[in-house]
Amino acid sequence: MLRQFVGLISPKVKSLKLLYSFIRKFGPVRIKELSEMTGYKHATCSRLVDELVQAELIQDSGLGESSGGRKPLMYVINPDAHYLIGVEITNLYTTVLLLDAQLTIIGAEKLKMDSQCTGRYTLDFVSRCVDELLAKQSIPREKLLGIGIGVLSPIDQERGVIIQPHLFTSDGWEDLNIVDYLSQKNNTIVFLENGTNLAALAEYRINYWKETDNLVFVSNDMGIRSSMIFQGRLITNQNEMADAFGHMIIDVHGPRCSCGSYGCLQAFSSLPAIRNEVIRRLKRGHDSFLQEKVGAVEEVDFFHILEALEREDTLVLDVVKEAAYYFGIGLSNLIFLLRPDIVICGGTLVPKPLFYEAASETALNRVKHYSNSNVRMYRSTTAYNIVAQGAGCMVLDSFTEENLP
Ligand SMILES: [Zn+2]
Repeated sequence: MLRQFVGLISPKVKSLKLLYSFIRKFGPVRIKELSEMTGYKHATCSRLVDELVQAELIQDSGLGESSGGRKPLMYVINPDAHYLIGVEITNLYTTVLLLDAQLTIIGAEKLKMDSQCTGRYTLDFVSRCVDELLAKQSIPREKLLGIGIGVLSPIDQERGVIIQPHLFTSDGWEDLNIVDYLSQKNNTIVFLENGTNLAALAEYRINYWKETDNLVFVSNDMGIRSSMIFQGRLITNQNEMADAFGHMIIDVHGPRCSCGSYGCLQAFSSLPAIRNEVIRRLKRGHDSFLQEKVGAVEEVDFFHILEALEREDTLVLDVVKEAAYYFGIGLSNLIFLLRPDIVICGGTLVPKPLFYEAASETALNRVKHYSNSNVRMYRSTTAYNIVAQGAGCMVLDSFTEENLP
């Protein structure tokens, strides 16, 4: 029935679609609540819900608590009604997930990207995984709704291609229309979207959907990226500016950034900026456990820095604290501008000591100026599959919500 939710639909199918969406968002939920939320009469709601049950799209969760009489029915979506494939392609790994309709990971495959991973080789691997993952779980092909793909490199959505394929160790990505190639091979619909947007979408749908419809997701790794859900819609554009947050100027007298400007957040808080500052201080003779770790200071890499951070090395702690302070200033600027209810921080440093605590403290201290602001900050889900989960979610959303391309 989900396939009938797309395109020009009758008022009745529209109502079914709306109810399915409410149950997906608020489930386990009773008919009484659904009737209040939709404004449909109790009897109408009951009849429509019954139709969704008959189509096996929703089911009773069995969670209703009886207050003496019969146990009330509490509906949730049926996770087994449809399945999704979520893919993340990066220059390090390609991840393929099989997800059920509740976005639970049913199966996963990973490909380490090396010199043999040309565009076609990688997409053939994805197609093979689709067959194998479905077969392993004995899921019939008709239950697959489609394939979603997330990439962190810039993409041209219209042509379905990755714009900066030089980041990959192998070639064969230029002019390869990922969307067409995969949809022909797998005979299903395929969507391509920016990875940061998909991480925001997955966090929203899986963890925060019931709480808010306005959230911001930021991540700090080699680059600093942001994405936003506004009034329940993922904000996307064709301009590929996911890393623009990193080029917000924090100090006009600051260090030169890779973009040519001075004092961008990227030049203070990103992993390369932290590494540069650690090396600068080592060269000045500051004490650190890193001195025993490497021969020449230039050999210091991100793994050394993360290890030093875990060991509470004073030099690295100082540098990370400063980077986090600037990141917090950047975050507060973002909060003032976008006024989200929730900010989710992701990236390599977030699960490590100090960075997240210092950054969120700085941001929240600045926001305190507005006493009625109740913005909350959270760490991103530590699972590494959040982008691929978001990619699968995008496919389901294309049938049930009306907020995606
Ligand atoms: Zn910059």
